Amino acid sequence: MTYVARRAGETPLPLAIKVDDDGVRYTDAFHNVVMRDIDSVLWQATGPADGPPVHGDPLHPGRQRDAMENLWCAECGHPPGRTDGGMPWVLAAPTPEPTWEGIDTEVPPTCETCLGHVTSACPSLRAGHVALRVRKAPVVGYRGTLHPRPEQTAGPEADSFVPLGSDDLRRLIATSLVRRLAGCTVITAYHPAGGLPDA
Ligand SMILES: [Zn+2]
Repeated sequence: MTYVARRAGETPLPLAIKVDDDGVRYTDAFHNVVMRDIDSVLWQATGPADGPPVHGDPLHPGRQRDAMENLWCAECGHPPGRTDGGMPWVLAAPTPEPTWEGIDTEVPPTCETCLGHVTSACPSLRAGHVALRVRKAPVVGYRGTLHPRPEQTAGPEADSFVPLGSDDLRRLIATSLVRRLAGCTVITAYHPAGGLPDA
């Protein structure tokens, strides 16, 4: 997942935030403007890359968003192409699932050229994966850190899912865009923890 992987140095910037009735914002006016997407959702800001990709870390928020929004390959960043069966997509899957229909994912598609490479190089895929063709994958929401309302005493909740259209999006610092897979056909599956490969 080289294109969307975080690179060394791309750690979250320690920006000060403020939460009020309007939602969460960076107190620094520049980042508060440039880190908002077209729907005004605030995104995590990271430092500049100064080294190679760090596999196993969370994906880079900006490149994850670009690849997921535009449906680019998670490995090479190019459009993955599509057949009548849909678009190629690889999911980490240590054990088989009864169905992949309707599953939500933060990982963008993977083109067929990159498929063999990512399934052998990416540790989470080496532990088990499924390669699908996916006909439809609408954006259904965001994941990120959800900040409490000013009157709430609870702390921020990391890795929260917030659906599109929710008022909670105002209190989210997003780290990824989420799509829901539909019209899925299994091409290959490999689940070493769940028995022999089933295709
Ligand atoms: Zn690719």
